Amino acid sequence: MHICIIGAGPAGLLFALLAKRRRPGWRVEVREQNPPDATFGFGVVFSQGALAFLERDAPDLHAALAARMESWPTQRIVHRGQAIDIDGNGFSAIARLHLIQFLQALCRDAGVAMRFGQRLDSPPPADLVVGADGLNSVVRGSAGFAPKVEWLSNRFVWYGTRRRFDCLTLTFRDTPQGAFVAHHYRYSPDMSTFIVECDAHTWARAGLEHMSDAGSRAFCERVFAAELDGRGLVSNHSIWRRFPLLSNEAWSAGNRVLIGDALRSMHFSIGSGTRLAFEDAIALDRAFGEAGEDVAAALAAFERARRPVVEKLFSAAGASSLWYEAFPARMRRFDALGLAYDYMMRSGRMSDERLRALAPAFMTQVKKGA
Ligand SMILES: Cc1cc2nc3c(=O)[nH]c(=O)nc-3n(C[C@H](O)[C@H](O)[C@H](O)COP(=O)(O)OP(=O)(O)OC[C@H]3O[C@@H](n4cnc5c(N)ncnc54)[C@H](O)[C@@H]3O)c2cc1C
Repeated sequence: MHICIIGAGPAGLLFALLAKRRRPGWRVEVREQNPPDATFGFGVVFSQGALAFLERDAPDLHAALAARMESWPTQRIVHRGQAIDIDGNGFSAIARLHLIQFLQALCRDAGVAMRFGQRLDSPPPADLVVGADGLNSVVRGSAGFAPKVEWLSNRFVWYGTRRRFDCLTLTFRDTPQGAFVAHHYRYSPDMSTFIVECDAHTWARAGLEHMSDAGSRAFCERVFAAELDGRGLVSNHSIWRRFPLLSNEAWSAGNRVLIGDALRSMHFSIGSGTRLAFEDAIALDRAFGEAGEDVAAALAAFERARRPVVEKLFSAAGASSLWYEAFPARMRRFDALGLAYDYMMRSGRMSDERLRALAPAFMTQVKKGA
């Protein structure tokens, strides 16, 4: 059995690792366009407990990650200069590059053949081709997947900074050009992720469309000068983008299957793109554990097990992204506490009762403020 995986991101590497460990006799190869030490972005964040599922399927990866993650027990919302802490909403974060490099090392030890610096323009011959090639997937572009993409109108840019933050924080800021929000959290002892987002009108009014990288960074540093506290923003292919809400009617076509961001995107405000990529990889490996070398049976089992979970999350992520699309109006309508409560309710899956159990101190404040 020859498995060719396109893309050495979290999805591709974890599936390669699990498949090779399960069947050491299978030929498992990963083809990646970039060199092994290149990656976009800075840190990735996982909600508390999101890594627990890794403990069973890749305990060595879980142990390596857990030892290196930055963790905190609360989330913070800052609006009109007031900070509101939401207890029970803990997260952990790690540099994306470290995550990828741990996975590469485990794959190497397991005997996965990894080829870097190889961009594929079409699916290669193999018994199974796994499209783990992210948002702009070439495998998805081959016949049979029927993808659907809807572009959100907000603009966002992903920076880093040497400023260390206490916890995952959303800072809302009004400016003469319009409203901005920064999503920021530390992911190593000396680095934090700093994502800046605004609506399309604000982006145009601020002239960000025509600014150079340095100009855009300087602008964001001015908007969030208080939070950055004299530290600058760091760029890493940091360009303003719109977020695509991507889904596929078919998850597999013949011997080709999609996993991770190639299969569907999940808005980063739900914070679980990497977790979902991992869960896809685990589910696909399990399907092969049951079906052996019967590729068609394994791909059908994978979709049967995963589709209902993914579709539920996709709709929650969609609702969350719509909350962000309207955040300037929400900033005008609510004070800090009201905005924090509205934010916690954004996915449509939260109730007061659940929130009271999850974040009792926060809900006591909400009750007092009502
Ligand atoms: C602004 C922003 C913030 C985010 N924040 C978080 C977060 O905090 N937490 C979180 O969990 N997730 C976050 N995500 C999402 C997360 O980055 C993705 O969901 C995750 O990386 C998906 O993993 P993947 O393996 O499917 O794809 P990717 O990580 O995109 O990996 C795909 C790989 O395929 C390679 N590739 C692509 N095309 C080809 C080709 N033709 N030939 C060879 N190789 C190819 C690419 O170089 C890449 O290495 C964020 C995303 C964005 C945009």
